Amino acid sequence: MKDRLLTGLQPSGNLTIGNYVGGIKQITDYADNYDTYLFVPDLHAITVRQDPALLRKRVREVVGIYLACGVDPEKVHLYVQSENLYHANLSWLLECHTTYGELQKMTQFKTKSRNHDYVSCGLFTYPVLMAADILLYSAKYVPTGADQTQHVELARDIAQKFNNRYGEHFVMPNCLIPKIGARIRDLQEPEKKMSKSAENPKASIFLMDEPKDIKKKIMSAVTDSEGVIRYDEQNQPGIANLLTIYAAYSGCTVDEAVQKFTGAGYGDLKKAVVAVLTEKLGAFREEYERIMATSRVDDVLDAGRDYTTAVAKEKYDEIRNVLGLGR
Ligand code: ATP
Ligand code: MG
Repeated sequence: MKDRLLTGLQPSGNLTIGNYVGGIKQITDYADNYDTYLFVPDLHAITVRQDPALLRKRVREVVGIYLACGVDPEKVHLYVQSENLYHANLSWLLECHTTYGELQKMTQFKTKSRNHDYVSCGLFTYPVLMAADILLYSAKYVPTGADQTQHVELARDIAQKFNNRYGEHFVMPNCLIPKIGARIRDLQEPEKKMSKSAENPKASIFLMDEPKDIKKKIMSAVTDSEGVIRYDEQNQPGIANLLTIYAAYSGCTVDEAVQKFTGAGYGDLKKAVVAVLTEKLGAFREEYERIMATSRVDDVLDAGRDYTTAVAKEKYDEIRNVLGLGR
């Protein structure tokens, strides 16, 4: 039996070419090695104000994009958090086993509560819901960026305290630090990484961009005045980034890309990047449009909901029983 791994998928449709390389591709790797649960954390999303129609639309879009980009629902249990009622139910049981003091230490809450005018209790108890997401499935691994490791620690603490008091019911989760793959950089300020929330519209290429946008953005990407193509992140971050994008999207190594473009002009490199991105993203977009014209997203999410609900019910019933709830 493969170890279980659980990870969330932010409901945002504006995924960049960086998110594909560093996020979507990783999921396909996990699926080969772990029993992988991938959910859209819409209950987490509403800890801050959301436009309901937009939230619903984005959940569909993001699932469609992941499917179009090669995530295989035969290997990954893909579902929407709110459709599986056990997440919120277990969260309540765990909230009653978490102290106010523990939650007050969470740095994400401190930062987010400063940045929002409306600070909901949900924002405060967010890490307990995350513990429930994980513990419900006895997930051994949770891939996390640095910003979430404190929450996984809390999930461990909650599990440990619970086990000490009631016996071994929860499996201890571990952070899985993602392998460092290619980092795609901002096209206008290549000192920074590319982000879906960048303010400059020319900074990022989105997976669903049209060929004309890809061309415009790549051709106006910031380079340098050296005039020589080599991989030098320090002195030529813009060129290094174009080489990285070329390599990641054409399936070669960065070294091979450098060899290919040695002696060429910046314009040639940019045109080649436009060509590979146009081809690859064109294929994604075509597949996305094909998927969205069918009931594929609903079919996948229905199956994911049913499968994960059955798994979650077992753990939930066990915990509920231990606490003396129900008859
Ligand atoms: P935001 O600006 O909202 O933080 P983001 O583009 O940084 O958006 P995240 O939601 O923080 O995206 O991360 C989603 C996934 O994409 C993570 O696995 C992260 O490691 C990966 N990722 C994000 N940006 C890049 C990038 N520029 N290059 C490679 N991987 C990336
Ligand atoms: Mg980020």
